[in-house]
Amino acid sequence: MRALVIFARQNFIPPNTSSMLNADLNIFKFGGASIKDAASIRNVANILQEYKGQQLVIVVSAMGKTTNALEVVARAYYEGNVELANQRLTELRNATFTTIQELFGETPDNLAAAVNDLVVTIEWVFDDPPSESYDYDYDQIVSLGELISSHIVTAYLRHSGLPSVWLDARDCIITDNTYREGWVQWPETQQRVKQHVTPILEAGSMVVTQGFIGSTTENFTTTLGREGSDYSAAIFSFCLDAGSMSIWKDVPGVLTADPRIFENVTKLDRLSYKEAIEMTYYGASVIHPKTIKPLQNKSIPLHVRSFVTPAEPGTEISSDAGDVYPPMVAVEKEQALVNISTRDFSFVAEHHIRELFEHITTTRLQVNMMQNTAISFNVVVNDIDDRIERFCALIEDDFKTTVDRGLELITIRHYTPEVRESMRRGKVTLLEGRLPLTIQMAVKEVAVIARKEG
Ligand code: ADP
Ligand code: ASP
Ligand code: MG
Repeated sequence: MRALVIFARQNFIPPNTSSMLNADLNIFKFGGASIKDAASIRNVANILQEYKGQQLVIVVSAMGKTTNALEVVARAYYEGNVELANQRLTELRNATFTTIQELFGETPDNLAAAVNDLVVTIEWVFDDPPSESYDYDYDQIVSLGELISSHIVTAYLRHSGLPSVWLDARDCIITDNTYREGWVQWPETQQRVKQHVTPILEAGSMVVTQGFIGSTTENFTTTLGREGSDYSAAIFSFCLDAGSMSIWKDVPGVLTADPRIFENVTKLDRLSYKEAIEMTYYGASVIHPKTIKPLQNKSIPLHVRSFVTPAEPGTEISSDAGDVYPPMVAVEKEQALVNISTRDFSFVAEHHIRELFEHITTTRLQVNMMQNTAISFNVVVNDIDDRIERFCALIEDDFKTTVDRGLELITIRHYTPEVRESMRRGKVTLLEGRLPLTIQMAVKEVAVIARKEG
């Protein structure tokens, strides 16, 4: 049996210790889009040629949409469909070797061995039945994406004349055993990051490591939550007192809204940590929300830069940035509104709310907005797996619930009446909340409602 040790949750980031930053050290994070194929990896190597001889820690994500593909593998295995799991894993292995051949011509022996060893480790997992915990199995399987991509990037940088050493992030980033959402154990992580990274840098090599993954103290692989590689880079930056951190994206920097959804967006040259925390908390997915705090605690500037136009400065996030901003919009999809009322028609009182939040915590519902009236309590949550069903089942003796799915949560910072109106057009607002600087609206497309009712 696998040991399941529960640590006390520790999300305490050591406060600003006024330590001196190492101005010569930069942490670079390259996300899935920047290394999605052979041409993209070549582009990354070209960017890094500009930094040859400098102290660099390079944190990479899985290539392209590999994590999504691995999620399918994990789900198939967990549901007992080992054939499908093996088939999808083989497809991924073949795609990986195609990329390697395109990059190197001939596959380097040690790279082929490293990739094959990693794939075989997962095939061995398939020989056993799934564990009791889907989240545990998920982390053991899905971590493969970053392990493979980091080996490929390291080998290609060396091939391009850039001295680089592969580092296993699981030796450095220690988390509790909250699988799929590991909570960083900061003191242990800080000590290990220094211990493993410093000798490589002193020997004049760049460090290449994985985002997204960590390990418990018992060496079980954990992940930090989807899109967590930005956060990994911030952990390395914090622990090493880096002079700056850069995340290389497919956009010119932080924009006033997601360009995949909105036209007429503009780039922000500078942003304060506070504003960046607010924006990412509300769903501006260009940066993982946990990234900013560790950097803010040590005043490490964060640069959001384009891997398409690497000479451009992008957006700088730092403490001395001004605080006058245009309206900025973030949209979170796959939201659900859960309306909760007491079965005995009593008012929703404090002890009810305490009970509800205990169950919200145990089912790991992520609440993005809440509001109460005399007889109901409303929460807008991320609709993930079967979490809402499990939550409703836990409270059903005392509470009646209705769930409205398929919503978007639109947040506008620094809103104007015009922007608010334009966001509501063609939509029905089910819940709205306003603060002096922020408006949030849980909305449904009119078309969706008409389809349901028609
Ligand atoms: P990575 O390759 O590091 O995983 P992501 O795809 O997670 O990068 O983040 C980049 C994407 O974030 C952009 O392509 C863009 O569509 C989206 N995005 C959402 N909100 C914003 C915003 N405010 N500014 C810029 N990009 C945004
Ligand atoms: N590969 C992981 C994901 O797609 C982590 C990341 O890319 O940041 O979620
Ligand atoms: Mg991403």
